[in-house]
This record gives sequence, structure tokens and C-alpha cells, in this order.
Amino acid sequence: MHFTRLRLSGFKSFVDPTELLIEPGLTGVVGPNGCGKSNLLEAIRWVMGENSAKSMRGSGMDDVIFAGTSNRAARNLAEVTLHIDNSTREAPAAFNDEIFLEVTRRIERESGSAYRINGRDSRARDVQLLFADMSTGAHSPALVSQNRIGALISAKPKDRRALLEDAAGISGLHSRRDEAERRLKAAEDNMLRLNDVMQQLD
Ligand code: ATP
Repeated sequence: MHFTRLRLSGFKSFVDPTELLIEPGLTGVVGPNGCGKSNLLEAIRWVMGENSAKSMRGSGMDDVIFAGTSNRAARNLAEVTLHIDNSTREAPAAFNDEIFLEVTRRIERESGSAYRINGRDSRARDVQLLFADMSTGAHSPALVSQNRIGALISAKPKDRRALLEDAAGISGLHSRRDEAERRLKAAEDNMLRLNDVMQQLD
């Protein structure tokens, strides 16, 4: 699976529409302090469904929207689109007919985020699972920020296992199992309540 293009508009310091081609292989982003290297990496994590504003270095998710400068007004929306080459059919089977995938996340001030996969409205969870099934995601170790290498070296065994699970593409299964367990628990609670009502009726 190969990310081929990243398009940003109104996202953090990338106020104007900006498109980056991502060549196959390892990509490094270099530039002077404050030029937006981390913002680019955050845009990739954000479009993959990152839901922690803190890990986007903000206090709320609206902080990813261009906040304005002394000579440019703030924006009210931000949008990031990631193009993925699916010619090797690495995306889940439901996308086998699609040669490429285009995942878009858009946020409007005080209205939250909306996602699209190839133009179709989708839930955050659909997007997160899509990337998890392709062995990547907002917390993928393939996205290496400046302080990440040190953190990987000193990571606890449990956190290292999570990295291996991401790489093996099974973290989506954990998330589905958690959801199934929640539903099972809710069904058990309903059964208990039903039994109580039946006993009262008897
Ligand atoms: P360094 O090498 O110092 O870590 P960097 O190249 O990684 O820097 P970033 O941290 O990506 O740079 O970008 C920082 C810049 O982005 C700052 O100038 C900051 O003001 C700007 N910025 C962050 N969020 C927003 C926002 N919501 N609106 C406008 N500008 C923003």
C-alpha cells in the first residue's frame, strides 16, 4: 500500500491549498525550524482518524484550523485528503474494485469532523479500521516524528507489542473485539432487566 499524494487546505500553517507528491520508499521532510514539518506529519495522522487534540498539539480539535496571522484572517474549515494506490489490492476486500482510494477529513469550526472515502460519507471508525486493516493508522510507527525514535527505544513491552500488532494489521481486530464485547455486555444487561420484569409479572 502506497500513499501517493497529500492535499491540505486550511490545516494549521498550510492555509493555502497545498499538494505534495509522495514517492515510493522512505520520505523525509526537512526544513528550518517552524516551517511546518510536524504539521505535515500531523495532517497524515489526522486524516487517518486521530481523535486526540492533544496529540495534534492543540487543546481542542478546532485548533488544527488555520488560526490566522498578523496579515491573514483565520479560516473556519480545514481539509486534508490522502490518496492511496490500491493497484496491489492491499485495502480490505470491500475496496477490491478501487484502483486508488481517496480519504478526506474535513473540520468546520464548532461543527466537528466529517470523513469521505472515495467521495462517500463515512464514519471516523470506518476510516480508522480501513487504515488498521492496511497495517497502518494514526499511530503507525512508520510515521516517525522528531522525538519518536527515543520513545521507541524506551517503550514498555506492552507498547512495543502494540507496534508489532499494528504492523501485522491485527489492531483492527482488537477494536472489533472490544466493540463485540461491549454489545454482548449490553445484551446481558438487557436480559437481566427482562428477567426482573418477568419475575415482577409472575
Ligand atoms: P521544528 O523543527 O521547530 O519542530 P516544524 O518544522 O516541525 O518545527 P511545525 O511545528 O510543524 O514546524 O510548525 C509550527 C508552525 O505552525 C508555527 O509557526 C505555528 O504558529 C504554526 N501553526 C500551528 N498551528 C497553527 C494554526 N492552527 N494556525 C496557524 N498556524 C499554525
